[in-house]
Amino acid sequence: MKYIFVTGGVVSSLGKGLTAAALGTLLENRGLKVTLQKFDPYLNVDPGTMSPFQHGEVYVLDDGAETDLDLGHYERFTSTKLTRFNNLTSGQVYQTVLDKERRGDYLGKTVQVIPHVTDEIQNRIHQVAEQSKADVIITEIGGTTGDIEGLPFLEAIREFALDVGYNNAIFVHVTYVPFIKAAGELKTKPTQQSVAKLREIGITPHILVCRCERPLNKELRQKMSLFCNVPYEAVIEEKDVEHSIYEVPLMLQRERLDDLVCRLLQLEAPAADMSHWQDIIRKLIAPQHRVRIGVVGKYIELHDAYKSVYEAIIHGGIANDCGVEIEKIEAEEIEKFGAEKVLKGLGGILVPGGFGERGTEGKVLAAQYARERKVPYLGLCLGMQIATIEFARNVLKLERAHSTEFDQQTPHPVIALLDEQKKVSRKGGTMRLGSQPCQLAMGSMAAHLYGAFLVNERHRHRYEFNNAYREKFESHGFVFSGLSPDGRLVEVIELKDHPFFIASQFHPEFQSKPNRPHPLFKGFIAASHNYIHHRPL
Ligand code: GLN
Repeated sequence: MKYIFVTGGVVSSLGKGLTAAALGTLLENRGLKVTLQKFDPYLNVDPGTMSPFQHGEVYVLDDGAETDLDLGHYERFTSTKLTRFNNLTSGQVYQTVLDKERRGDYLGKTVQVIPHVTDEIQNRIHQVAEQSKADVIITEIGGTTGDIEGLPFLEAIREFALDVGYNNAIFVHVTYVPFIKAAGELKTKPTQQSVAKLREIGITPHILVCRCERPLNKELRQKMSLFCNVPYEAVIEEKDVEHSIYEVPLMLQRERLDDLVCRLLQLEAPAADMSHWQDIIRKLIAPQHRVRIGVVGKYIELHDAYKSVYEAIIHGGIANDCGVEIEKIEAEEIEKFGAEKVLKGLGGILVPGGFGERGTEGKVLAAQYARERKVPYLGLCLGMQIATIEFARNVLKLERAHSTEFDQQTPHPVIALLDEQKKVSRKGGTMRLGSQPCQLAMGSMAAHLYGAFLVNERHRHRYEFNNAYREKFESHGFVFSGLSPDGRLVEVIELKDHPFFIASQFHPEFQSKPNRPHPLFKGFIAASHNYIHHRPL
């Protein structure tokens, strides 16, 4: 078993997660079995209780774990299947340590950060190693070197590397080399200081991955090699990508990062064949077709809030050799200016998941526009609930129909809580979460797109379609094309007289990959492209 620890320096948002994931891609394509793990220094037990504005998207795994969005990168860039053990937060560490203390496991001892907290962190690395049976584990440490709250994690990985020994563990430091306009040059000082911070704790990085806007020249590489105590060839350039994040593995391969990693860890593995990945990039850079998709949400100014949705849309584009321009639309804009003005000219409309009332009326208007004008519509989770509310109000004429999440007094609660959810009072980890089976109806658009009748998809929601209304909906051309196998829960809906109007209670975006685009997104982009080229003027 080999271990790669990825730390970050200078600033946050460097794309450490992407770098770790891209290294995973390269190692996997060399025939190695890889898994990835993320340590987050915050005290929340998981990001499930944080606002998207704080944290970006919450990425859901098969087992229902609500995790950091970097795990989304890990699953998209590799074939590894992650579990709740692949994301560890300080909150979880302290919770475990304190539970043990109360149980009396440390009886007689003073419980301390070193060794009790650091041991718990190391246990998690061993646990993932055992469960994954991987050849290589890449562990990314969240936050920036120098943060107080990250110290126990750094201490833990330092001890861990000492334990497993030379040749079995390496440290990769992702750092920032800023371009200072006034001086007209790239500056290495922040990197030097960030590496000095690591060395203070006893970690000397083996490799520096330098995020930069301009290429590093020979002198700069030499300087960083000398001042940061890494060999010249271990100074790796990772420039901002031009077109797509999926270029990162190829860029790092050109810099020979994976060769170096294999050499340092004494891994015998042939060079990576990245030809299929190159094909993906070609389709992204020079697609045959183009289409514009509107995403109508409420966390629009924050790109990270709908990360997996945006990625899945791009994958749907790859599947159709179609470049997708994503128009990010604040739902409240539709409330202000009307659907026609905001949505005109789009190839397709997507309403993603969400919580809370703000913007719901704008989303309802978007669904109505899509239904009436026959614009392709894809609804995800809240997007399905919105489509249901819209249909209830405007087709079934059920006045003020709503979800009880937004209006507890509604006369027509077409979306409501199940009895088991009504009893729940604690907020953390209590939604309907994770992968669940869904049965698709014969002859439905959903079954056609999937090419299957039984699928498994990931969930994260509390509210459900209210079955008291099923017959009424059905009699007006609203199709329940996906149900839980016991028939109790509505999973997918679609409209009969519409070229593409489909919405799911689950989140298909979590299982889409660039080399395995999700069928619903693939179908949505195909329909959107078709719509824009054949719509009546
Ligand atoms: N707020 C809705 C619910 O809890 C939808 C959740 C979501 O879109 N993820 O059911």
